[in-house]
Amino acid sequence: MLLYLTYNAYIFISCKFKKFFRVSLLKIYLFEVFQIKKIILIIMIFTVFICIFFIPFINPNVNSENVTKEFLQFNASDKFIWPIPGYTRVSSPFGKRTAPTTGASTYHKGVDIPAPENTKLYAVCSGQIIFAGFLGGGGYTITLSIDNYKFTYCHVSPNFIVKTGDTVQKGELIGYVGPKYVYGVPGNTYSDKDGRPTNGATTGCHLHLGLRIDDQYVNALDYF
Ligand SMILES: [Zn+2]
Repeated sequence: MLLYLTYNAYIFISCKFKKFFRVSLLKIYLFEVFQIKKIILIIMIFTVFICIFFIPFINPNVNSENVTKEFLQFNASDKFIWPIPGYTRVSSPFGKRTAPTTGASTYHKGVDIPAPENTKLYAVCSGQIIFAGFLGGGGYTITLSIDNYKFTYCHVSPNFIVKTGDTVQKGELIGYVGPKYVYGVPGNTYSDKDGRPTNGATTGCHLHLGLRIDDQYVNALDYF
């Protein structure tokens, strides 16, 4: 009798335990499944967020093919048109000078025209874009070429609307005045006195306009 009771008690207890383990294992299993689903959902939301908000910054040329072109009105008799309407003050002329910042040339191979960041820049003539990228002391630079003339726009915005190889028309919007500071540019050795990386050798927002004729630097102002 005692043995029988003990046996029954053992069966009862072991059943409870088994049930208990089964239930708790099921709970752990369901918990993990839900956790994994949650993690997958979070990853998906994060990926969508990255795509929507960051891709236009990572690749500024994403929509450049569909952008309607903007042109400036100009006098047809002008050989070259002024690239930065509304701004004519020259802060640093062509020729010999004292370097305004470390790394800047003591023989200034262009003219500096101060203007706020994002001021529009137009093609001085019809021609081909032979460079659009970062170029040492010039910072972000666009070079426009026609025949034996090469016009260089320095310290421009990294949000390029033209690329190397593009053909542009006289008076076409080709870029913007760039920021003073640029970050994360590989190989940029230029910075201000506090160590902040600058858009080439520059002390403030301006267009540096250079002109080469047969690869010799000349004063661009003589041609407008
Ligand atoms: Zn300059």
